[in-house]
Amino acid sequence: MHKFDSHTLEQIKGILSQSSNILITIHYNPDGDAVGSALALYHYLVKKGHKVNILIPNDVPQFLNWMPGMQDAIIYFHKSKLADQLIKEAKIIFCLDYNAFSRVVSFEKQLTEAEGIKILIDHHIEPEKQFDFALSVVKVSSTSELIYDFICSLGDRSIIDNNIGANLYVGMMTDTGSFSFACNYPHTFETVADLIRIGIDTEQIHRLVYDTYSESRMRLLGYCLSEKLVVLKEYCTAYISLTAEDLKRFSFQPGDTEGVVNYALSIKDITMAALFTEKKECIRISFRSKCDFSVNDFAKKHFGGGGHRNASGGDSYISMEETLTKFTNLLPEYKDALVSAAEKSSVI
Ligand code: 5GP
Ligand code: MN
Repeated sequence: MHKFDSHTLEQIKGILSQSSNILITIHYNPDGDAVGSALALYHYLVKKGHKVNILIPNDVPQFLNWMPGMQDAIIYFHKSKLADQLIKEAKIIFCLDYNAFSRVVSFEKQLTEAEGIKILIDHHIEPEKQFDFALSVVKVSSTSELIYDFICSLGDRSIIDNNIGANLYVGMMTDTGSFSFACNYPHTFETVADLIRIGIDTEQIHRLVYDTYSESRMRLLGYCLSEKLVVLKEYCTAYISLTAEDLKRFSFQPGDTEGVVNYALSIKDITMAALFTEKKECIRISFRSKCDFSVNDFAKKHFGGGGHRNASGGDSYISMEETLTKFTNLLPEYKDALVSAAEKSSVI
């Protein structure tokens, strides 16, 4: 179990001992772990008698909309005036599943200027130093697992109910690719076991997240794999690119490309996969890798991004064509590392 050091924990217990005005924030382009950790903490803090708001920078993918408490969350893009007020008024601001104020994008300035006590709970590499208190554990596969630990460290395991548990499970399940990576730790599975004991239905949660594709999303996936997948065997790399026109053709909705990059990575001997998506402002890139090839370093160095060793993101402000040329031109420099990771990934 990971927790704040005992001195910090006592301070936080003190801060939370009286009913307070609390804001929970998560990163731009929220994923299952960001939303799950925020909603779980929300239910917990409400049960403890606090006034709590959740602020999400932009729209949540449709397949997460069923999550318990989602109807209470505020999306910054839709209610920016109210949100600005809440940021100003909050006495405590939880910063979940991100490591720098810049990651909230939509309200970075307001967050930076906010006077509330900022508490970080996160698992991304190299957290910045702007937070008043920080629980940052990179080896833990999800922020949701850290929220479970946080609640337990406050002596409140008995308060965890099905609503909290289901949200935590979504975060843990999605950030580990249904327990297939970054989760080879007993504590992760002990946490899941405890959530099942509390009463969550893991099979139903899996269905609600993964078996609710729209027809157009499924067809977009088919198109990506049959028409857009490029495999560069020599560099153990595969990538998919989607233009604005492609997205329009398949009636793209937020979240529709979630998971697509993992299909490229699931090819034998492929150790780096990338998905390039044309957005209004830039080309958004999702990177995934196997073994010790770090797409965090790669995204950080070449595409102003970051994340985790095996899952990261970045942006490119040149055209799609130029971005793909830049990407493929970088590969020779990484060939040895990519091939070596492929060798490691093929033995037990
Ligand atoms: P995804 O490809 O799913 O958008 O992101 C993969 C992981 O990298 C997530 O944990 C996400 O939080 C992180 N990530 C994505 N984009 C960025 C970025 O631009 N900067 C940083 N630091 N992390 C990112
Ligand atoms: Mn996460």
